[in-house]
Amino acid sequence: MKNILKELYNPENYTKSAVAKEDAALNEQKTEVKKEEEPKYKKGTFFSNIDLSNKEIKQSKAYEEYPVKSLGIISIIDKHIEQKKNEPRFGFHPSSISLEDPFCARYHAFRHTRDALFQSGIFDSIEEANQVLSIRGRSIDVGLQRVFDTGHALHSMYQNDYLSSVLWGKWERFNKETQLPEEHIGHKPEGRGWEYIEPTIKNTQYEITGHTDGILRINDEWYLLEIKSANDASWSFMHAPREAHQKQAQLYLHSTLIGFEHIEPKGVVFLYVNKNTSKEKEFLVIKDSKMIEPIYAGLRLFYDCLDKQELPSKVCLKKKCTRANDCPAQELCFMLDAGVVGAKQLQQMIMK
Ligand code: SF4
Repeated sequence: MKNILKELYNPENYTKSAVAKEDAALNEQKTEVKKEEEPKYKKGTFFSNIDLSNKEIKQSKAYEEYPVKSLGIISIIDKHIEQKKNEPRFGFHPSSISLEDPFCARYHAFRHTRDALFQSGIFDSIEEANQVLSIRGRSIDVGLQRVFDTGHALHSMYQNDYLSSVLWGKWERFNKETQLPEEHIGHKPEGRGWEYIEPTIKNTQYEITGHTDGILRINDEWYLLEIKSANDASWSFMHAPREAHQKQAQLYLHSTLIGFEHIEPKGVVFLYVNKNTSKEKEFLVIKDSKMIEPIYAGLRLFYDCLDKQELPSKVCLKKKCTRANDCPAQELCFMLDAGVVGAKQLQQMIMK
């Protein structure tokens, strides 16, 4: 130990020439190491025709423009979504009528007329019918449709994987060994490739149809499942399911589960998933018809007017109110009267 200390504190070792010698030796080592560390694949190897030598901006521009832009992948996606979102959706659906505030029988009278004209072949497309009747097409843009589709993909993850042990209902798969389709009723069976089939609900009195995200069997009791995604801000301040979602839940609870008519769910379990963090919150909504009475009253008015061949009255007092601005039939609505007169005006408009 003494000898080592002697060496360390020996001033001879720290003369200029000694330090220079040491530096030279170190530099030699460094050069050797540098040679070994030289990366095998250099940045930009595949872009030899583009000068990537200087600024970072040049590099990011190259990645942005070449070769992705030339393939037009994004415009292919846009086009696909555009076609998909124009698919007509007939009838009454809990997910859409629960969003109406208030429910408007008059709007549904216009929508019903348009759909009937399209189904009878008078118009070749829903767009053409919309144009003739001055109804705005579905206002969901391709960007928003992507958000919805991401939500559906999230459903599949919870249904077929995370919640598969408590989810009950119909499962389907194509068996690769037997080359035959298979079906199972109950909890998810063993084996690969099983996919949960969302149960259909139907309210025959009001002709409401839709699909729930699932049936849950927990502690020998039945529940329905609804999975919703929310952004971080709304998720953080969420202390109860949204009002529109609660209405949607009540519409499900007051309907029949097709194929599983014996099941009477106690309530709907809402699972809200934070899109930013993937954290979850769960709420239970118990069956109570109070919340959906105004929807049922609106539906009764709709069917009554349909029988009498009348147009229902407006729920909007002004053409530029918030509710009317949200309504695809805003223009048409304020061109026509209510009752038998309104129905005749509508008929004349179509005849023209
Ligand atoms: S504008 Fe208002 S009253 Fe007219 S159909 Fe639309 S929601 Fe109903």
